Amino acid sequence: MINIVLFGPPGAGKGTQAEKLVEKYNLYHLSTGDVFRYNIKNETELGVLAKSFMDKGQLVPDDVTIKLLISEIEKHPEAEGFIFDGFPRTTPQAEALDRILTERGTSISKMLALDVEREELKERLKNRAISSGRADDANPEIIENRINVYMEETFPLKEFYAAQGKFVKINGHGEIDEITERLFESIDAILA
Ligand code: AMP
Repeated sequence: MINIVLFGPPGAGKGTQAEKLVEKYNLYHLSTGDVFRYNIKNETELGVLAKSFMDKGQLVPDDVTIKLLISEIEKHPEAEGFIFDGFPRTTPQAEALDRILTERGTSISKMLALDVEREELKERLKNRAISSGRADDANPEIIENRINVYMEETFPLKEFYAAQGKFVKINGHGEIDEITERLFESIDAILA
């Protein structure tokens, strides 16, 4: 079983790349952002709560997000492995993920961290807003806030995984397919 944390700031291309990895490696793509958006669309209680944070570019509280992650993992006992996209975003989330996977006799194989310059991120999010219809992509202040939250709360997780010898930095610039190839190389190395 391989479990990948696909890491990187908003706009780094995690969702796009996760889809490519799923096709090749038969892993389950678990995006907490996608699950929150699904709940918002269906006007669930969780959706209403999540929206109040997402609309401001803030993180949904850890207890809510961790509970959601556990229930998503439990829904897919058949999975040969997971690509975690947008999770973990805080140290308590990373600790919880380790615990959850250990309880299931598995662990994170690697954190693959897409590295993209701040100016490029803002440009990509601005363009994505046109097709995604995401309110949090459309507003420059919210984008700025999301990148700041990432730098303060999420980026330090690289040390958490580096301490376990699992951190791999991937150049996130260039054509989508070039970036995918870099990720493939890294995952093939785990499987070799
Ligand atoms: P994303 O689709 O990963 O860019 O996430 C969109 C928004 O969902 C984020 O800005 C957060 O408000 C919320 N979100 C997604 N994943 C998490 C997480 N692991 N922890 C807290 N909030 C999250």
